Amino acid sequence: GLKMAPSHVLRCCQRVLAWIPVVFIALVVCWSYYAYVVELCIFTIKNPGEKIVYMVIFHLSFIMFVWSYWKTIFTTPANPSKEFSLSKSDKEQYEREERPESQQEILRRAAKDLPLYTRTGTGAIRYCDRCQVIKPDRCHHCSACDMCVLKMDHHCPWVNNCVGFSNYKYFILFLGYSLVYCLFIAATVLQYFIKFWTNDLPDTHAKFHVLFLFFVAAMFFISILSLFSYHVWLVGKNRSTIEAFRAPVFRNGPDKNGFSLGFVKNVKEVFGDEKKYWLLPVFTSLGDGVTYPTRLVNLDPEQPALDIQPESAKSSVDGQCHPTRPLSESQNRLLGNDPHLTEDSLDADSHKTAGGQGASVLMESES
Ligand SMILES: [Zn+2]
Ligand SMILES: [Zn+2]
Repeated sequence: GLKMAPSHVLRCCQRVLAWIPVVFIALVVCWSYYAYVVELCIFTIKNPGEKIVYMVIFHLSFIMFVWSYWKTIFTTPANPSKEFSLSKSDKEQYEREERPESQQEILRRAAKDLPLYTRTGTGAIRYCDRCQVIKPDRCHHCSACDMCVLKMDHHCPWVNNCVGFSNYKYFILFLGYSLVYCLFIAATVLQYFIKFWTNDLPDTHAKFHVLFLFFVAAMFFISILSLFSYHVWLVGKNRSTIEAFRAPVFRNGPDKNGFSLGFVKNVKEVFGDEKKYWLLPVFTSLGDGVTYPTRLVNLDPEQPALDIQPESAKSSVDGQCHPTRPLSESQNRLLGNDPHLTEDSLDADSHKTAGGQGASVLMESES
């Protein structure tokens, strides 16, 4: 029976099933193309000038939408480079070691020359046990992809891919062009929708398609709008969805604005320096996905000092003055220790709305 099925068969099934949302979207898009071009433009619209203008604009937005959707789906997520893996001897030593303090010592030695500014909530080096790799800043392990993804934003089931450093620009363009596509359809279909509705036009098979076209376009437009607005806001703040949930932890503690360089620079970090490429789904994001410029974080007077081990205190080797926290970061937060609690839960709420439309976060817990 199913119980006996080897795990790779199950994984194979999961992989096939994961394409269902993408296939669903593709079918809806194909139908919308047929309904708009054939049923509306060819069969319903009589004015040739109107026909041509609608066809041209429709095809432009269709091409941009499909192009950016395609790139979001088929761009493989970027992974940490080799220099973030432990050397063979370090790896063996790490696995033999049972005390977390000694393991941290191995990681700290291995990470000495790596460009790392962020730590876990307890001040430890961020390490992925599953991939056996030191996590670069903004990198997170995705359980759905089973890999560490650079600047991971979230795992999106509607594109069956991780949204992160390699395709975040495409993802935002995909949302933007789907809005344009839906808005254009809804706006141009509206008058024919009304005519069919009030029986000003004869009852043909085009009626069904045109009525549905308006409903579907309007529905998708409304649901994508909140997700798109949220991501535009995130780009302006230089935060990933994960970082909006939980602020990255720097030497001086968590700082949700740690990677923010100001609005214009934040936008350029995702869209690139040259404005002519901003609206095209070609890769122009700045940086290598591993190192990110940070503001020099000075202690914010409003931010209570957190008991995070400063980098300078190397005396933690003996484990005596290293205050190992018994509670994980998330538990701490539940107890109200997190200064960003209010704002973060607001972020989380706004994401929940967005999550309903397809974005879900599958991330590891960093304890
Ligand atoms: Zn990993
Ligand atoms: Zn993923």
